[in-house]
Amino acid sequence: MSEVRKIYSVQKSSATMEGAGVRLKRAFGQAHPKLDPFLLLDDFGSDNPDDYLAGFPWHPHRGIETITYMLQGEVLHEDSLGNSGTIQSGDVQWMTAGSGIVHQELPARFEGLMSGFQLWANLPASHKMMDPRYRDVKKAEIPVVTTDDFVEMKIICGEVKGVKGPVQDVVTEPEYLDITMNHHSTFNHPIKRGHNAFTYILEGEGYFDLKKKQKINKKNLVIFEDGDEIQITTEDSKLRFLLISGKPINEPVAWSGPIVMNTQEEIKVAFEEYRDGTFIKNQQ
Ligand code: FE
Repeated sequence: MSEVRKIYSVQKSSATMEGAGVRLKRAFGQAHPKLDPFLLLDDFGSDNPDDYLAGFPWHPHRGIETITYMLQGEVLHEDSLGNSGTIQSGDVQWMTAGSGIVHQELPARFEGLMSGFQLWANLPASHKMMDPRYRDVKKAEIPVVTTDDFVEMKIICGEVKGVKGPVQDVVTEPEYLDITMNHHSTFNHPIKRGHNAFTYILEGEGYFDLKKKQKINKKNLVIFEDGDEIQITTEDSKLRFLLISGKPINEPVAWSGPIVMNTQEEIKVAFEEYRDGTFIKNQQ
């Protein structure tokens, strides 16, 4: 019999400062067995340019993937692979840092609403030093699946009802969906047993398990226990949330700023290489 996942925890995102002085909300930012392979989820949303103008000037990454999903606004991106361009509203940038990438992310507009998310996914030891890879996914490439029960899903990564998202061949088998439910609807979705899963609420409120004890609303992170599927229900209000799941790596995590490896020695080497100019292994 299919087991509906229970809620492990609910927590509100908290205000923090990143980059050169960007004010954002952090849903989580630590290695946790129930979130593995994911390390961090930042929610940046503000209509005050002072909160985002400083951006994220040149910095390195190694050992992880960073996934940026823009809801509103534009971000200029440049990196050591020679990629440069703008991430526009609705676009996704899926960057696999692997052995090392140096990049910057700066606002391309200096007024109005800027909102989006950055997710960090860890890489297993076997893939930490893989060649860096950069995928720029335009809004139009992201399929939208609608069910009879008034649920709309944007598939960034993963597969729903035979429709595959544009980002594939990621070693931790992640699923990344942006889901909007109408009021008075129910959403059931299978998630592989053993994979970790969480949702982050953007708008509205709803119930995230069978117990229906507590309506959960925006800026909350819901982490699930193991099981075969999740069930989410709405009543009087609509609901929009991100649903993210993936296969846990179960390895030691050594993490310093933008670099995530397995041991402190590897962290030390990465920073020495960055200082000595030997950090980038793959120049295209
Ligand atoms: Fe970065």
